[in-house]
Amino acid sequence: MANERRYYADSYTTHFDAHVIETTHYNGLPAVVLDQTYFYPTSGGQPHDTGVLNDTPVSEVAVREDDGAVVHMLEGELAVERVTGQINWARRLDHMQHHTGQHILSQAFIQVARAHTIGFHMSPDSITIDLDQANLEAGVVDAAEDLANRVVNENRPVRAWFPTPEELATLQLRKVPDVDGTLRVVDIGGFDTNACGGTHVAHTGEIGIIKVLRVERRGEALRVEFRCGTRALQDYRTKNNLLQQLSAELTTSYHDIPTSLNRLRDENKSLNRELRVLRKAMLEHEVQAMWKAADHSGASALVAQVFDGRDAGEVRGLVQQLIEHPSTVVICAIAGEKAHLITARSDDLPYDMVVALKRGLAVWGIERGGGRPSFAQGGGTPASLDDAQKAIEAAIAAIRSTES
Ligand SMILES: [Zn+2]
Repeated sequence: MANERRYYADSYTTHFDAHVIETTHYNGLPAVVLDQTYFYPTSGGQPHDTGVLNDTPVSEVAVREDDGAVVHMLEGELAVERVTGQINWARRLDHMQHHTGQHILSQAFIQVARAHTIGFHMSPDSITIDLDQANLEAGVVDAAEDLANRVVNENRPVRAWFPTPEELATLQLRKVPDVDGTLRVVDIGGFDTNACGGTHVAHTGEIGIIKVLRVERRGEALRVEFRCGTRALQDYRTKNNLLQQLSAELTTSYHDIPTSLNRLRDENKSLNRELRVLRKAMLEHEVQAMWKAADHSGASALVAQVFDGRDAGEVRGLVQQLIEHPSTVVICAIAGEKAHLITARSDDLPYDMVVALKRGLAVWGIERGGGRPSFAQGGGTPASLDDAQKAIEAAIAAIRSTES
């Protein structure tokens, strides 16, 4: 029994009746074959249609390899003899706009730069063609885009048909496909003629607009990403909203956003420079204050200080500067969620600061830490200001015990 692909002759019918001629399973899903269908199966780089048969959603449509039947895969079993099919028109129109737009854009790149299309990809996220020239001169993409949109604005008729072998021999196809059997040819008002099995709009004006979004070099090829019609409008809307948001944030017109950003970047750089200078001065000042407050009563000076939630790297910097003084022991603890203990001394003293560290960390009930005899650190567990003070005292006691 016939398995007619009605979409070849008519891309616009979305509602139709049909007989079920086979109920089967395909790719693990319940599936049916109909005597005629307007559902487009995945082929030629164009994704399949979606929709319903009666009330059952059609999740995928494919051409069966062994007999060429169009198989409608379903979200549920469908045991009936007759069905009413309804195709998702928004998705179909999107494919029609892009497929027709692709023919025009491919021809435009040939006419503007002799750049031939060697690949085509269409998915919900992106639509691209690959050109056989990786380096196009400046302005070529805009020129091809202008030409393509001129063809859209001229609202040329689009014709798809199966020519006889005699007629086919007289046609100048953009690219001759190496397939056996009858070829379907799509002619776009004399601008482009090519073999294609996809669905297309009837007049180029229905494409609305063809917009190139970006080009990207891919080895010896150039990938051109573009949008047509409704998807181009959505893309424009998203980008326009984003620009308006940025304009409002920067209190400037969208033309001046790059200037504003450059100014912000420069300001940020000089502020960072200033901040580094000030922080350095502040830390030097702090080192002096800590040194003054040290216990100078013993043979060696002792600097002991608790910090509340301070950056460990910054405290390490303070400690390193302090132990540059001869005969100096420095013990610092940072209280907080990840408490930290540092035990250090100048090179001229004999104490093992790892032993002092371990004694201090034992107060917090942990052993995570170590270092050199002159500089050790550890921590990582929560500790209060009180606990931090206790750890310092335990570390000092460890040093005192080696003195006596
Ligand atoms: Zn096509």
